Amino acid sequence: MTPPEYVRPTTIPEALNALRGGVALAGGTAVARRAREAARLVDLQALGIDQLQVEGDHVRLGAMLRLQQMVEAELPAALDEACRREAGVNLRNMASLGGTLLTCSGRSPLATALLGLHAQVRMEPGPQQWSFDELLARRGSLPGGLLITSVVFQVPLAMAQSAVARSPADRPIVCAVVARLAGRAPSFGVALGGFGPRPIVIPEAELALAAGDVPSAAEAARTACATALDAWASAEYRAEVAATFIHRLAGEVGV
Ligand SMILES: Cc1cc2nc3c(=O)[nH]c(=O)nc-3n(C[C@H](O)[C@H](O)[C@H](O)COP(=O)(O)OP(=O)(O)OC[C@H]3O[C@@H](n4cnc5c(N)ncnc54)[C@H](O)[C@@H]3O)c2cc1C
Repeated sequence: MTPPEYVRPTTIPEALNALRGGVALAGGTAVARRAREAARLVDLQALGIDQLQVEGDHVRLGAMLRLQQMVEAELPAALDEACRREAGVNLRNMASLGGTLLTCSGRSPLATALLGLHAQVRMEPGPQQWSFDELLARRGSLPGGLLITSVVFQVPLAMAQSAVARSPADRPIVCAVVARLAGRAPSFGVALGGFGPRPIVIPEAELALAAGDVPSAAEAARTACATALDAWASAEYRAEVAATFIHRLAGEVGV
């Protein structure tokens, strides 16, 4: 079997060119398993997209930031905690933000936190920007040759997260994030994870919190768990925990 061609572009145009018929290689922790199936591996590490930048009240996280670099940066505490819960330190040292978001399941605390922040994803060719929610929705049918360059979010006025797992090191069975987003009118991000193919935003809970109605927000979280049954937990258990979390987190962000 012919081994894949390996290239390490240093500019975005070079990378986009190489990605036509190639597979992006970030941390390689997921891609390595099927690397031999690729005709060409396009190593993203020399593109300079591994910076964390603060631009006014926005934070831009380069797609090639390693999760451990995010833990070591000064991020909102709830986002930092989500990075720690995402993986142990060995994996955090290798896995990139972009690779994690493209491969995450519903049990990803980091993806849940970024959904709660209403994060945007910047991509080439373009540049084009989608909400992270849209990227997750379209993950199965992304056009070939797409390169994620960064993830951007506005610094929240307050943010809180909570998670329950079978052990402290395990991925959560339920995790929830509530962010009080910046803006003139009260506005909130509410996301739930711990099950299914991807974490979810709960728009009904966001609207309820904006109206100061915490019980309705908790009820929306409960409803979102109606079919969240799998090998790790029942839907009833998750519904109860999710509602409790939303009550608690709403208090923590000052609703
Ligand atoms: C020991 C171990 C345990 C793991 N446990 C879990 C787990 O519990 N849950 C889980 O979900 N995963 C798990 N993984 C899988 C993997 O670690 C994660 O999905 C990881 O976060 C992927 O990040 P990466 O940077 O290594 O991505 P890569 O493997 O480099 O890439 C993943 C995918 O994303 C694409 N990609 C990466 N970056 C970009 C970009 N900037 N633009 C466009 N495309 C891009 C790649 O082409 C590839 O298709 C585990 C892996 C290992 C080795």
